Amino acid sequence: MSQRIDPNFTLELEKFGISENNECFHCGTCTAACSLTEKGVIFPRKQIRAVQMGLKETLASSVEPWLCYFCGDCNEQCPRDAKPGELMMSLRRYLTSVYDWTGISKLMYKSKLWEFIFIFLIAAVVLILSIIFMHVPAEAERLTSQGGVALNKFAPVDLIHLGDMVIFILLGGLLISNAFNMYYKVILKTKVKVSLGTYIKELGSLIWNFGTQWKFRKCDGEKTYWFIHLLLMTGYVTLLVMIVVFLSWFQTDIIHPWYHPQRILGYYATFGLMLGVIYFMIKRFRKISESSKNSHFTDWTFLVLLLLTTITGILVHIFRINGLAMPTYYMYVFHLMVLTPMLLIEVPFSKWSHLAYRPLAIYFANLKKAALKKEGKL
Ligand code: SF4
Ligand code: SF4
Repeated sequence: MSQRIDPNFTLELEKFGISENNECFHCGTCTAACSLTEKGVIFPRKQIRAVQMGLKETLASSVEPWLCYFCGDCNEQCPRDAKPGELMMSLRRYLTSVYDWTGISKLMYKSKLWEFIFIFLIAAVVLILSIIFMHVPAEAERLTSQGGVALNKFAPVDLIHLGDMVIFILLGGLLISNAFNMYYKVILKTKVKVSLGTYIKELGSLIWNFGTQWKFRKCDGEKTYWFIHLLLMTGYVTLLVMIVVFLSWFQTDIIHPWYHPQRILGYYATFGLMLGVIYFMIKRFRKISESSKNSHFTDWTFLVLLLLTTITGILVHIFRINGLAMPTYYMYVFHLMVLTPMLLIEVPFSKWSHLAYRPLAIYFANLKKAALKKEGKL
């Protein structure tokens, strides 16, 4: 495959977090140290070479950056301190922007200013809509004087559900189209011949890896990291499904007993999110592992948005079950102001999209391996 070489590629990647890249002298120690590399999917030395040579198309069609879970073993073993694990992390950010056809992801990864503009714009729109449509403070005061909290009356429930559906369609559409773009670059463009039977046979691995991130467990010494990551991810997915798909069941004015499935699921999601956010924030503050020594600004934005979403969600719940109407209403508006940008920015354009790209990458890698085996090339 002939392709154009981009001599400025490493400079471009600096915006995505790459620091050292010319130190590598290709000894291959990092690849030997990596417990996830295997026949047919070799990394990270190969990708370092592609970066140094400016082979953007090769990288755009490669799945390997997604198969790295940044355990940091390769960083520790590298005799040149070339930080291969970090390069793989930067490549994941870069690839997220390559799959995103809107260009928003690229803008946000390259510029703090753009990321903040997007966050504040979405929050401002939510605030303006809340001021226009929610009954603050007159209606809320009337409800308060009648006793109790009526979240679904204070906020016009039909409008909230309509907004919910718009977000659901927008998120789904963006994520699916970006994932298709990934499929196009990895499979269709590279002309890998995959049979229908292989697509079906490998579907199981896609679902399994989405639900468990099982490959991550193969990283040496990363079992705690994997478990907390799993709690965070399942907590997030639980909450996402409940607020985007089942909001009318999840957000009711009836206060169920603590053992009701609605509350149990809410508590599980909150626990997973809170534990995960605190764990990853401490790691980043203390820089205690290779994967947390150098943070890109988007890593922090993601954690801060998630922390604020979780804390405001907890406060809404506490105020509501204690019958504190006004604090519940105002906190609910604030909660929506952090939750909405968190969903609209992180799911299709930033960190949470990795939840979809990682298992898809494993799926595509399996398809490629099966095709190569069939052709006797593996
Ligand atoms: S990144 Fe380090 S360990 Fe890997 S090939 Fe280059 S010099 Fe060797
Ligand atoms: S960070 Fe870990 S998983 Fe990623 S390439 Fe290095 S050794 Fe492999």
